[in-house]
Amino acid sequence: MQELQNYINGRWQRSAASEYLDVTNPATDEVLARVPLSPASEVDQAAQAAAEAFQEWRRVPVVERVQYLYKLKALLEEHMDELARLVTNECGKTYRESVGELRRGIENVEVACGTPTLIQGYNNEDIARGIDEHMFRQPVGVVAAITPFNFPGMIPLWFLPYAIACGNCFILKPSEKTPMTAQRIFELLDELGLPPGVVQLVNGSKETVDAILDHPNIRAISFVGSTPVAKYIYRRAAEQGKRVQAQGGAKNPVIIMPDADMDQAVRVVAESAYGCAGQRCLALADAVTVGDAHDLFLEMMADRAVSLKVGYGLEEGVEMGPVITRQSKERIEGLIGLAEREGARVVVDGRGKRVPGYEAGYFVFPTILDRVSPESEIERTEIFGPVLSVFHVRDIEEAIRLVNSRRYGNMASIFTTSGAHARRFRYEAQAGNIGINIGVAAPMAFYPFSGWNESFFGDLHAQGQHAIEFYTQTKVVVERWL
Ligand code: NAD
Repeated sequence: MQELQNYINGRWQRSAASEYLDVTNPATDEVLARVPLSPASEVDQAAQAAAEAFQEWRRVPVVERVQYLYKLKALLEEHMDELARLVTNECGKTYRESVGELRRGIENVEVACGTPTLIQGYNNEDIARGIDEHMFRQPVGVVAAITPFNFPGMIPLWFLPYAIACGNCFILKPSEKTPMTAQRIFELLDELGLPPGVVQLVNGSKETVDAILDHPNIRAISFVGSTPVAKYIYRRAAEQGKRVQAQGGAKNPVIIMPDADMDQAVRVVAESAYGCAGQRCLALADAVTVGDAHDLFLEMMADRAVSLKVGYGLEEGVEMGPVITRQSKERIEGLIGLAEREGARVVVDGRGKRVPGYEAGYFVFPTILDRVSPESEIERTEIFGPVLSVFHVRDIEEAIRLVNSRRYGNMASIFTTSGAHARRFRYEAQAGNIGINIGVAAPMAFYPFSGWNESFFGDLHAQGQHAIEFYTQTKVVVERWL
C-alpha cells in the first residue's frame, strides 16, 4: 500500500499526520494508496522554505527560470501514458479523457515558457522633460493552489508553471480524493533540479487548507472546487489581505434551436453531458430546447444515452467511467429521485445499474430528465454526474432569459445554423465561456478560463496572461537623472 508523502524544501518527507484517508479506484473500490491529512506545522515548514527560496529564485533571470519548464514539458510527454493510467485509476475517467486532460495541462506549461515576453512591462520617455516612467512586473512571493478531484493532472498545471516562471515559490494542496497524480508529477518536478523550496506539495484537507489561508508568508491563493468552498476560501484569504482567484461550481446550459444540425448537436451534447461521467466543470447539464427541437432532440439523445458503453476507463471501447465516490453515486441517485418527486419525467434512468465484472464500482449510467421545472430545487443544484435535464421553451428570448436567470456562469452553449441567433446569444449570455456549436468550450491555455457569477470569485482568472498578472505585482518607476 503506497503511503503518499509531502514534498517540502526539495525532499520527500513522511507526514506526521494523525489521520490518513484511503484513495480508491472508483471503478473497482480497490484502495490504491493512503493520503495524509497534514497538520498546520507542515504547511508552516513549506511556507518557510518557500519564503527563503524566494529570495534567490526571484533573482534568477526569467529566461533561465523557463528552462525548467521546457524540461518539465519533455518529462510530462515522456510519461504521458503512465500519468494517464494513474488519472483513470484514481479519478475514473476513460484513458482517452485522461490523455486529453494531461494535454491541456501540458499546453499551460508551453504557454508559460513564453513568460519572458508575457511578463514585460511598458514605459514612456519624457512624461515630463527629462523624466521617464516604467512599469515592471515583480513576483508576488509565496503562492499556493488548492485543487479539486476532477482534473488531478490538468488543474495544478493551470497554476504551477506560471507561478514559478514569474519568480514565485509555489505550494500545491491537491484533492485528497485524487492525490496520486500530483505525487507523480512532483516526482518528475524533483528530476528538474529546481532549487529546494520553489515547488512544494502538502497533502491534506480542510485543516491543511485553513493553515494555508492563514499563513502570513503565503501572499496569493488559487482555488478550484465547489462554490460553497470557493466562497469560504475567497472570504477567509481576502480578510488576511491575500490575492485570491477562486473558481467554483457550475451547471452549464445549452440552447438547442430548431434550426440546429441535430446529428451534430446530439453527438456533441452527449459527449459533454456524459464525458468524465458529467464531472467536468464545463459539462453541459441543462438542455433548453426551443420550439420543435424538443421531441427530436429528446428522442435522439435518449438513443445515444442508452447506447453509451459504461465501464472501467482502461478497458477498450469504454466511453464513460464511474463517479468519484460511493457517496457521490448515492447523492446523484438521490437527486434523480428528487427531480422525479418535483415532477420531472425520467426518460433514461441511470440508477441502480451495475457493470459486469465491476460490481463494486461507483457507476451511475447516463440519465435524462425531461420537463424539469425552472423553479425546481434540482434546477438550482449542481448534480456533477451524468444527468442531463431538458427544458422546453417557445423561442430564443425565453431560452436566453432562462440561461441568464441562473446562479452559475461558467459556460453556456447554443446549437444553431443561424448566424443571427448565434451572435445574439454570444452577446447576451451571462457566462464567461461561450460555446457556439461546441459542447465543452474549454479555453486554450493562452486564454483566461473565464467563469462568471457564482462560478468565480476574484477578477484575474487561471491561464495565460491573466495568470501572469495574478502572479505578479506591478511596480511603477518615475525616473529623472540630472
Ligand atoms: P471541493 O470544493 O469539495 O474541494 C476542492 C478543494 O477544496 C479540495 O482540495 C478540498 O480538499 C478542499 N476543501 C473541501 N472542503 C473544504 C473546506 N470546507 N474548507 C477548506 N477546504 C476544503 O470540490 P471537489 O468535489 O474536489 O471538485 C468538484 C467541484 O469543483 C465541482 O463543484 C466543480 O464544478 C468544481 N470545479 C470547478 C472548476 C472551474 O474551473 N470552475 C473546475 C473543476 C472543478
